[in-house]
Amino acid sequence: MQRSRIGGRLLIGIIMAVVALFGYFSKTQVNPVTGKKQQVSLTPQEEVAIGLQSAPQMAAEYGGLYRDEKVQFLVKKVGQGIVQSTEAKDSPYQFDFHVLADPETINAFAVPGGQIFITMGLLKRLKTEDQLAGVLGHEIGHVIGRHSAQQMAQQELIGGLAGAASTVLTDSNSPSSGAYIAQYVANLMNLKYGRDDELEADDFGVKYMVQTGRDPEAMVQVMEILAEAGGPNRPAEFQSTHPNPENRIVKIKEAMAKYRNQ
Ligand SMILES: [Zn+2]
Repeated sequence: MQRSRIGGRLLIGIIMAVVALFGYFSKTQVNPVTGKKQQVSLTPQEEVAIGLQSAPQMAAEYGGLYRDEKVQFLVKKVGQGIVQSTEAKDSPYQFDFHVLADPETINAFAVPGGQIFITMGLLKRLKTEDQLAGVLGHEIGHVIGRHSAQQMAQQELIGGLAGAASTVLTDSNSPSSGAYIAQYVANLMNLKYGRDDELEADDFGVKYMVQTGRDPEAMVQVMEILAEAGGPNRPAEFQSTHPNPENRIVKIKEAMAKYRNQ
């Protein structure tokens, strides 16, 4: 009796694992901009909706919006300048750029769908508009690369496999779409991109700099600023979630050679 119950649970666990894996791979979509196949469970419209919904919460984490319209305008202008002269313009995303008040934290990030943020802590360390464009171009790259949506699909897979392992999941296959989005927003707060995502975002950044007529060398300068800011007493958050600046400089220079010759 006991034995057959364990056998039954194991079978259920295996079925759940297969369902989770099947679900993950059935999420394969071709990225409309890069043409790359990737596993994402959201439509671009859902990415935009989730991004808009999570933006105020994310902003609040960094002291809310910086209260100076001129500064906000400058960042929006530089960001939109990149969007309007690159493939980002034809993407399904709604790009907008915001400065966050936090003067200490050195960070920039994007939520899915095109809402992009830079902290005052990072902005005040930048010395040229091209450096700002480099930071924003990198973040636009995360949006175009659909990196958040990709990470979410991976989290779902991990969640599904963990559920299968413990077989404690009750019948929760179809949560209401409201609960679904709330769960995504909660996950978004803890999301970290992989190393490959960061390097791909740098690659997009360099391409957009070249296409916008800006100097991609400014991205190397940003890496130097980050390396300097990440001294022993001041860990830069932008760095803790990104590969180390020295490695990125090598890749950025390779991308510069590639896109300048196109
Ligand atoms: Zn990044």
